[in-house]
Amino acid sequence: MDKRMIYMDHAATTPLHPAVLEAMLPYFHDKFGNPSGIYSVGREARRAVEEARETVAWVLGCKTDEIIFTSGGTESDNTALKGAAFALKDRGRHIITSEIEHHAVLHTCHDLEKFGFDVTYLPVDRFGLVSVEDMEKALTDKTILISIMLANNEIGTIEPIPELNGLVKSRTKDRGVIFHTDAVQGVGTIDLNVDKLGVDMLSLSAHKFCGPKGMGVLYIREGTRFEPVQSGGAQENKRRAGTENVAGIVGTATALKLAAESRESNTAQWQSLRDRLIEGILTGIGETRLNGHPTLRLPNNVNISFRYVEGEAILLNLDLKGVAVSSGSACASGDEDPSHVLLAIGLTPDVARGTLRFTVGASNNDGDVDYVLGILPGIVDKLRAISPLADVPGHTGGANV
Ligand code: PLP
Repeated sequence: MDKRMIYMDHAATTPLHPAVLEAMLPYFHDKFGNPSGIYSVGREARRAVEEARETVAWVLGCKTDEIIFTSGGTESDNTALKGAAFALKDRGRHIITSEIEHHAVLHTCHDLEKFGFDVTYLPVDRFGLVSVEDMEKALTDKTILISIMLANNEIGTIEPIPELNGLVKSRTKDRGVIFHTDAVQGVGTIDLNVDKLGVDMLSLSAHKFCGPKGMGVLYIREGTRFEPVQSGGAQENKRRAGTENVAGIVGTATALKLAAESRESNTAQWQSLRDRLIEGILTGIGETRLNGHPTLRLPNNVNISFRYVEGEAILLNLDLKGVAVSSGSACASGDEDPSHVLLAIGLTPDVARGTLRFTVGASNNDGDVDYVLGILPGIVDKLRAISPLADVPGHTGGANV
């Protein structure tokens, strides 16, 4: 990474941890075997895959055969939703999710609608929270599947998964309604024990926690009805066909273990950086607002709207000064439309377009926050001075929105 770059976009992706790279390297050359091979180099690769599965199961507090490795968060979400919906379609065709899910879930739900499933998209409150009451109202005797994310990738709001799941299980009793959570943004800061969360399925993506890109995990609770969506060989216990990415699997497990082990120290360190950044921006720049929940939010997430300016313009100016942030969800970049998450919490399209997401991580320190707080007011002032959006006050004036 360029030495001068201050990287504050850890929700988009993270750099590979050096220990992860080291753990992966042998599986690209000396230990290159196919885990399905019964000769020694194959058995060696099989052993590595199964040891990695044990590590992941240890972090999630589950059994090893409840874990399958995938190509990332997107595949895990697709596989969970389609696999569960197709397995339960004879019991009912109603699915419940929220309006602020990642597109990996939302677009999968749109696909399922084309296959005759009926999807309820629950609204959220102004902080981005799904309510237990709305969940209760949405449940019907045809509901087979629920998917609510653990933490939102844009605004950082942490959803009340144990409460939502507790309600669903108590109202649907033995009907076997499946509760899936997209936990992609929760690694390294939230306890991912699947029994504490109470979920039946959970998705992870390795590149969000200093693991390799193109690798994911899907947890499927024992006894959960599920139909594989990928046809082919018998890998991953006949639940995900395709030769295993051995190096990727080893890297995923190594990174997950490191993230779990440093959860407490990361949380404390990132939260202090997050809070200084929020406080500094809200007090130093007028007409700004924090999006997401003030306390039930990821310790590394800062999401702020700046009135009268385009988030993208601030982003490009920050980039010129060596700071990398996001103007929304990186996965949604290229979209002209304002973020569906920001609209769902009640922002107008103009305010939504003036939004930046800063997500701190292992490489950041107090000096980075000072630097950003030092340059940001000037950038916003300069852009507001030429903004066609309104006759605007200077950055020190005006109330926060
Ligand atoms: N779910 C959430 C909440 C995400 O933030 C992302 C990526 O940003 C994904 C799913 C998709 O993960 P991947 O990039 O591994 O496909």
